[in-house]
Amino acid sequence: MSLDKVDYSQDRGLNYEENLLWEKEHSEHSGVDFPDLKDTPTRTGMDMRDDIGLPQLSEPQVVRHFVRMSTWNYSIDHGFFPLGSCTMKHNPRLNEKVARMKGFAHIHPMQPASTAQGALELMHELQNWLAELTGLPGVCLAPAAGAHGELAGMMTIKRAHEQQGNAHKKIILAPDSSHGTNPATAVMCGFEVRSIPTAETGRLSVEAFKEALYRTDEKGADIAGMMVTNPNTCGLFETDILEISELLHAVGGYFYCDGANFNAIVGKARPADFGADVMHINLHKTFSTPHGGGGPGSGPICCTEELAQYMPVPTVIKGDDGLYTLENETDRPETLGKLKAFQGQFGMFVRALSYMMSHGADGLRQVSEDAVLNANYILSQLSDDFHAPYGGQPCMHECLLTDKKQKEHGVSTLDMAKALVEYGYHPMTVYFPLVLAGTMLIEPTETESKDAIDRFIATMKGIANDVREGDTEKFHSYPISTPRKRLDEVKAARNPILRWKKD
Ligand SMILES: *Cc1c(COP(=O)(O)O)cnc(C)c1O
Repeated sequence: MSLDKVDYSQDRGLNYEENLLWEKEHSEHSGVDFPDLKDTPTRTGMDMRDDIGLPQLSEPQVVRHFVRMSTWNYSIDHGFFPLGSCTMKHNPRLNEKVARMKGFAHIHPMQPASTAQGALELMHELQNWLAELTGLPGVCLAPAAGAHGELAGMMTIKRAHEQQGNAHKKIILAPDSSHGTNPATAVMCGFEVRSIPTAETGRLSVEAFKEALYRTDEKGADIAGMMVTNPNTCGLFETDILEISELLHAVGGYFYCDGANFNAIVGKARPADFGADVMHINLHKTFSTPHGGGGPGSGPICCTEELAQYMPVPTVIKGDDGLYTLENETDRPETLGKLKAFQGQFGMFVRALSYMMSHGADGLRQVSEDAVLNANYILSQLSDDFHAPYGGQPCMHECLLTDKKQKEHGVSTLDMAKALVEYGYHPMTVYFPLVLAGTMLIEPTETESKDAIDRFIATMKGIANDVREGDTEKFHSYPISTPRKRLDEVKAARNPILRWKKD
């Protein structure tokens, strides 16, 4: 038999193929040896051991299966990961070391508070840092992700309106560039979403905002609030945000600030100073706790003193005796209640505080400065090769390009994202925001070296060059070196096959 025909010959160049565990079940060995049970009666009178169809595998087979599949993963520890809006930055190992300290790693939420004072003090300290950085003094750490924080924040706004006799306020304003979770959250809370179109500048304009605010006969009395990301998802700072938030407050609306883009302004600007009433923080973005398959998210919310009475429990409170406790519903009668079991993702609180304290106030400011510098470097290097919308004006921590120039040659954003995979990069965020066609949102973060960024720029320039020269055919079949080649995403989404069947 020729070498090519040998069974299991798919492995090439230490690039491992891997089939399903069930396809290995012809193995003679199981991982565990049970003694024969021939004469042992069962208490129910039924057969003790039916064949439940589990694969018969030895320990080394199981280990190899999962280790091989782990090599198919791409992560921030493998390479550059410029996924816009997601802030895929290096997770410092110091954070891991601190999170693994016995006193933090081995505690249990059911332990009496008197035996967990250190952990509660850590949460109290994290609340203080978040309050200081946002300018918003009420902090609830519990939400389990950004989207969950949005839910917590919007329920807080809803509760405030209800308690203040303003239940008729039903409209939430959101820019058309907003993250999908924003309108989805507003609708889940029973609000109606009114979209504000993005202006020519890529920002909110006061005119468009006023038009949306006063659209009905109620002249703004029906407005419950707005959900705005600043900087926005085009990577631009909302320069009119002060005037906009004042107009909103004048009609009794609250400003929910989506804090996912906080990395661009942390240590530089406090959202409370531009009018935010409540915001979530993605600890797994700005404060470097692992995400994207690497760990659970954590989306604390911060809010004004006025809204703090309504937000979910618990926060950590420090008593006059110097002892820390997790508050419960009876401590704060106006609260909307509990949204998450116990206190939230404690391990992430440890990592986030470790990150903050190791950077310090000046270090956090430098984080945002370097993140913004890196994004502008990429924008300046690529704006000849790719269409940079909104006049190619300087951006914040992420830069926006589109496929306008390449599209003329039949190559789309999707094709270029696939080419990046072929050349060893995780693609940027594609087709988001939705306000323009073929968008590519690139966020390098502050943790990449100039060398890594230069190599990414060279790859992008290479793509633009080949498209210009008419060498376009290959872009429709990339990636060709990955185990699964080019996937048909539309077919996968429309006709998913989620169960393995024995043939
Ligand atoms: C990431 C992100 C969210 C949601 O955060 P999750 O932790 O993924 O739920 C919301 N808004 C924006 C702009 C984001 O980038």
